[in-house]
Amino acid sequence: MVHVNSNYLKLKAGYLFPEIARRVNAFTAKSTNLPLIRLGIGDVTEPLPKACRDAMKLAIDEMGTHNGFHGYGPEQGYAWLREVIAKEDFQSRGCEVSAEEIFVSDGSKCDSSNILDILGERNKIAVTDPVYPVYVDSNVMAGRTGDAAGHGRYEELIYLPINADNGFEAQIPTEKVDLIYLCYPNNPTGAVATKDQLQNWVNYANENRALILFDAAYEAFIQDKDLPHSIFEIEGARTCAIEFRSFSKNAGFTGIRCAYTIIPKTLYGQSSNEKIDLWGLWNRRQSTKFNGVNYVVQRGAQAVYSSEGKSQIASLVDFYMKNASIIRRELLAAGLTVYGGKHAPYVWIKTPSGIDSWAFFDQLLEKAYVVGTPGSGFGYAGEGYFRLSAFNSRENVITAMNRISSL
Ligand SMILES: *Cc1c(COP(=O)(O)O)cnc(C)c1O
Repeated sequence: MVHVNSNYLKLKAGYLFPEIARRVNAFTAKSTNLPLIRLGIGDVTEPLPKACRDAMKLAIDEMGTHNGFHGYGPEQGYAWLREVIAKEDFQSRGCEVSAEEIFVSDGSKCDSSNILDILGERNKIAVTDPVYPVYVDSNVMAGRTGDAAGHGRYEELIYLPINADNGFEAQIPTEKVDLIYLCYPNNPTGAVATKDQLQNWVNYANENRALILFDAAYEAFIQDKDLPHSIFEIEGARTCAIEFRSFSKNAGFTGIRCAYTIIPKTLYGQSSNEKIDLWGLWNRRQSTKFNGVNYVVQRGAQAVYSSEGKSQIASLVDFYMKNASIIRRELLAAGLTVYGGKHAPYVWIKTPSGIDSWAFFDQLLEKAYVVGTPGSGFGYAGEGYFRLSAFNSRENVITAMNRISSL
């Protein structure tokens, strides 16, 4: 019989979203007249921006002509897309990132998992707790975490708690680690990192020759001009960081699929004692295992940077951030303690004392018909917290808040 990858068997049973679905189904089977409002899973709800749709319609018609047909494209993405990304997202903000350092892909979820392909097995890995589950589970699948320990943790991972006690700021590890996952603005807590905080991480990484994997999927939601959108705004990041970006949350591409990863050409790892450039390895990996994002979608992504695209995306972000501010305002008025929601589409709620994350989930489900996400599902240190997402219609957000307020 064929052997399976036994690392998969170490994954936590009853993973978060299936468990949420199970409880929701059990509840709706019993009763309900009111429709449920889902502020749980982090998927966008507003339609695609017109600029992107128009660009994709043109591109699909082009594909119907002999002259405009495109077969396999470059595995790294079309030059016109990589160039506009480098210019608009980095050079215009004073970051030294070139088009060649941008690898266009079909998602940050896959990029942040696939990156393990080019990294060795013996790295010491640090993650925040709570954390986007993909970083942990992809390492489990790759056999990089050791066995499951208590509280849904893994023996060989280093957990950096982020909670109200430390202002949701991950503390620099006291030991030497090789690989650090950071996500700012943060999913699930909605926390942000200042330039000084990121500078401390970059300094630590350069001193310890560590690599930072920086997930900036929510950078578009930052409202304060002084907060960094990219790790490459930080001096020294070009020798210690890879950044993941996505069109999923700013442009509503969760169903269209387009993202990109930045690997500076100045970034090195080691094999035995030899210095190896990571750009070269990732380029090799992508050329072998990936055949590029489809032409039509890349034209849609390019339109994100047109003047109409920019203004339509700004309106989308404003819309969701207004939702977030309504959620914050109403929950505060209801006497809850809330964090996040100012530079991220997530509001992170402290559950009332004596009520754990899942009990709070059950209360909101059964009494307010509102579905959120228990903080404990994102890690042991997320216990006692609860995430509500601002990705929904204004009407649903207002109705959900009215229902919660009247509890
Ligand atoms: C939504 C999200 C992404 C984007 O993933 P895609 O695969 O590009 O849709 C990346 N990181 C985090 C933390 C997210 O929440």
